[in-house]
Amino acid sequence: MKIKLGPITFELKMARPKKGDLGIAKPGEDDANYRGYCDTNRQVIAIDRTMPAERQYSTLVHEIVHAVNLEIGAEHWALRKTPDIEEQFTHIFSFHLAQLLLDNRKVVERFMDRI
Ligand SMILES: [Zn+2]
Repeated sequence: MKIKLGPITFELKMARPKKGDLGIAKPGEDDANYRGYCDTNRQVIAIDRTMPAERQYSTLVHEIVHAVNLEIGAEHWALRKTPDIEEQFTHIFSFHLAQLLLDNRKVVERFMDRI
């Protein structure tokens, strides 16, 4: 499955993150604790398919927000200079965005048919 973010097309992988995937874990952590990841260089977003559907969905929105942050050059902003702040922003923003899209599904569908 593909996800278009502006001119960039990401591949969506439904996978089980394995230990050592992309080296995303910090020393002492296990990659298996990650629910998903976004690799902008390889244009891949991966989501742990073993989670319940609601968790997969919220993780997908979370990883999309990370991708947007990187694609719009947010690394030059204060957000990316402190990775913990970018993670917190992504977590809070994606949580509310995911819920907004779910709560307003009919509004989104109405415009999807017209675009
Ligand atoms: Zn994150």
